[in-house]
Amino acid sequence: MAGNWKMYKTPADTTQFFEKFRPLAANSEHCEIVICPPFTSLAAAVDAVRGTRIRVGAQNIAWAKEGAFTGEISGAMITAVGATHAIVGHSERRQYFNETDETVLKRTQAALEAGLAPIVCVGERLEERESGNTEAVLVAQFQKGIAGLSELQFAKIVIAYEPVWAIGTGKTATPEIAADAHRTIRAQVREKYGKDAADAVRILYGGSVKPDNVKALMAQPEIDGTLVGGASLDAVGFASIVNF
Ligand code: PEP
Repeated sequence: MAGNWKMYKTPADTTQFFEKFRPLAANSEHCEIVICPPFTSLAAAVDAVRGTRIRVGAQNIAWAKEGAFTGEISGAMITAVGATHAIVGHSERRQYFNETDETVLKRTQAALEAGLAPIVCVGERLEERESGNTEAVLVAQFQKGIAGLSELQFAKIVIAYEPVWAIGTGKTATPEIAADAHRTIRAQVREKYGKDAADAVRILYGGSVKPDNVKALMAQPEIDGTLVGGASLDAVGFASIVNF
């Protein structure tokens, strides 16, 4: 169960969040928990989760190891503060910061090289769904992005299916719609990396997941977990998602 805080929460807000969240998540052995705060709050988050099973991730990662890339943060910088995961290719990065399948692949490889577990996002826009192109979009994102990984690299990633029309809009994909998309992605994995990889890979659903819809989503065998934006900002709300 992953939380993406987007551009919310200072270090002080982060410490406050975990004071509330830690005890509420204390009995959550059924799942892994990762919270992805903004870069400037990573260190506060790592401090706050010390000694717990909660892990901390970045929301993005540079594709280069170092260099003249103003505003970027490298994998080594992220691991140096104690984070273990990195979201790659979030739809807000694709939409507002020109992220492409090619850069998603490069960032995913950089995360793996740094020893971070990448959470790689794919998902169609509303007009793509409405024009009947969901499957084609997911296949293209997989082929141009994820499929560039070696088998060994692929075994270390988590995929997040995040339909763009469901992110931050309050419109959740029905469990059936989400499961259908997960099947499309898993079929791609099977074709490229084989049955064992397809069975093993974890595919999260993301898009307006809330305490009151998480149970129905998680009842779909295809859905292995959730990537939660807005609802992960509230400690009580996110705890009830984690403890669905
Ligand atoms: C997200 O940011 O990945 C996300 C799914 O956002 P929300 O849950 O707010 O739709």
